[in-house]
Amino acid sequence: MYLLCYKHNLIHLWGYLWTHWYQNDVWLLWARSASPDEICIFKTTMLTESHWKVIKRDYLPKFFCPRLDLVTYIMINRLIPHNEMMLKKYLTGRQDPSWRKDFKHNWKQLSKKESLQTSDYLTDSERWICSCPYFLTNRFFICKYLVNNVKENISSRFFKEVQRQGVYPLLEMKANFYNNVQEIPSTEIFVEIENTLKRALQIVQGQHALSNIQWAKSINKNIEGVRKMVCDIDKYENRITNPKTWKEHNKNTIFYE
Ligand SMILES: [Zn+2]
Repeated sequence: MYLLCYKHNLIHLWGYLWTHWYQNDVWLLWARSASPDEICIFKTTMLTESHWKVIKRDYLPKFFCPRLDLVTYIMINRLIPHNEMMLKKYLTGRQDPSWRKDFKHNWKQLSKKESLQTSDYLTDSERWICSCPYFLTNRFFICKYLVNNVKENISSRFFKEVQRQGVYPLLEMKANFYNNVQEIPSTEIFVEIENTLKRALQIVQGQHALSNIQWAKSINKNIEGVRKMVCDIDKYENRITNPKTWKEHNKNTIFYE
């Protein structure tokens, strides 16, 4: 920028840029590379611009140069409650942040592009970095080389849960984003099921001792799933011939040993 101003003899422009943007104290506030350990996931100062735009256009359209106390009042009583509501929607999954849609679109576009097997760029999907020029300017930290490296195995969860982050890997690739990852079987599920059944038995026996028939009738339907499982497995164990296809199984017997 300095060289550009020098070349075109733009003394005043450089004066402005230096004072408001480029000298170290203010440069730290906006530069993406201001910290050696972390990179800002936002590419431009657009986010701040848009924050002010929303206040001006949505909340204060009728006021030109409003008083500061009015602006503060609007921010506290209108803007913050609105943002809190949106945050709740994002956290509960009722709404997706708008960048996810753009991200998916961008990803799909890049995945259609052929990437040569031998490129001169350093592409590292572990740390999620690439040395190609497109990667440097992309707002989502993606480029065709990275996308092509992993796209085959991407699961549908990926687009719902993926996060950009300021440290390596710049795109957090969780194990469950890949389709072919085998889950480590955990026997904890047995503990949970056994505990529930034990407690249920205790409750039923307690009500039996009190001869609480009304209670038994009203919860009878809740046992239906368990009853069916027991019935199916008893039938399966007493069968004469082995099922020939998976169609003869149901979910109660298919994995039963
Ligand atoms: Zn690249």
